[in-house]
Amino acid sequence: MPSSPIAIPARRGKAAFIARGESVKVINTHGEQVVDTWAFSRADLTEFMSMEHSRAGIQRLIPTVGDSMLTNHRRPILTLLEDTSGGLHDTLMAACDVYRYHGLGCTEPHDNCTDNLAQSMRDLAIAAPETPSPLNLFMNIPWTTGGVLSFEPPVSTAGSYVVLRAEMDLVIAFSACPQDILPINGVGRQPTEAHFLVG
Ligand SMILES: [Zn+2]
Repeated sequence: MPSSPIAIPARRGKAAFIARGESVKVINTHGEQVVDTWAFSRADLTEFMSMEHSRAGIQRLIPTVGDSMLTNHRRPILTLLEDTSGGLHDTLMAACDVYRYHGLGCTEPHDNCTDNLAQSMRDLAIAAPETPSPLNLFMNIPWTTGGVLSFEPPVSTAGSYVVLRAEMDLVIAFSACPQDILPINGVGRQPTEAHFLVG
């Protein structure tokens, strides 16, 4: 029985415990919001979804339907079951953090995905052992044949979603990325909420 939609508030994080075999539907509610996504083994938080191990496993830069993301112990942790978003996600970019915004010219504290991960885990009375590279859902980072990367607006549309199946008991954490300097959350640079459903 699916749960009610759980909000990932704009510029904030949200985490949840997910049992093996359950699915998580991550909804781009307003269409252009990047959602940084992490997964940690419930039994051992130092085992977590790893972008570099996953890329070696799937031999792609972006997972496609049927692909399983791997942990740093090379075990499947999340499998992509459905994707109506246009299929563009990012596995290359680190989560934003205070240093990133400082580098972009911010002189005041700025909300960031690294802090959002930590807070969302604290809300469950657990602690993230580190900030692994996230699976950046809906984030559009194209590359040229020369290997040049750029930060572009999402191609996803309002209400589009991905469905991820948990391959072990895990903690999933999301951050509605607060990036409002680069156009990764749309040319309007306006971070919004997103939602997820567990079923
Ligand atoms: Zn971010």
